[in-house]
Amino acid sequence: MEWQQPPIVTPGATNDQPPSDAIVLFGGRDLAAFENGDQWLIQDGVAIPRQTAITSKQQFGDIQLHLEWSAPTEITGEGQGRGNSGIYLMDRYEVQILDSYQNETYFDGQAGSVYKQTPPMANAMRRLGEWNTYDIFFTAPVFKVNGDVEKPGYVTLIHNGILALNHFELLGPSSYVAAPHYEPHAETGPISLQFHGDPVKFRNIWLRELKPAVGKRTSAGFNIVKESAPEAEDKPAAESEDDSDDSEEDDS
Ligand code: MG
Repeated sequence: MEWQQPPIVTPGATNDQPPSDAIVLFGGRDLAAFENGDQWLIQDGVAIPRQTAITSKQQFGDIQLHLEWSAPTEITGEGQGRGNSGIYLMDRYEVQILDSYQNETYFDGQAGSVYKQTPPMANAMRRLGEWNTYDIFFTAPVFKVNGDVEKPGYVTLIHNGILALNHFELLGPSSYVAAPHYEPHAETGPISLQFHGDPVKFRNIWLRELKPAVGKRTSAGFNIVKESAPEAEDKPAAESEDDSDDSEEDDS
């Protein structure tokens, strides 16, 4: 078997716009893609948390997720009480949303952290009132039949174009107090957005389901290496250039 042709995906007009294979979770009109979506306020094409978390009706495994958010311009709290929300991948693994522009808190709880597991590599916050973009690349964990972790989950985050998490190995579900440890779960799960009492704004939420390239390297690739093998054998001889190179040519 050889490689199959990768699918053709037409990009959006700009890189923040959903490409042709994207699933749009919020395009500005309603949150019908989410359970409890009708609880949140939609105002001028922007979604604002109210009452409860919202959870996507669809379930996902590995994904690329794009989301834009803006902290409330009226500052009413500090630390974790300022512009707090979050994205729960598979309803479990939280990438923190927080107004971390000139707002101190514990580092593994600031914007771009995996909550209580790692700080981001950089604080890439824009000023209050400006829009932040998150581009998240998530690899779901895999469990053995007996419930042990076969492969952990990973998350990469680009915050406003800046790499904040680089293939971070998730330690388990996010918890406020407990040390994270994995519990086996299904291969897919929903995306949840946290309600933490703060009127964070959301817009332009879409994702792509990720599937690995299909096929494998064929033996043809290795044959090319074999064909060049005689040259490689010449190389050690080339170290003693003078005699061996000349003599070999004489021989043949
Ligand atoms: Mg949060």
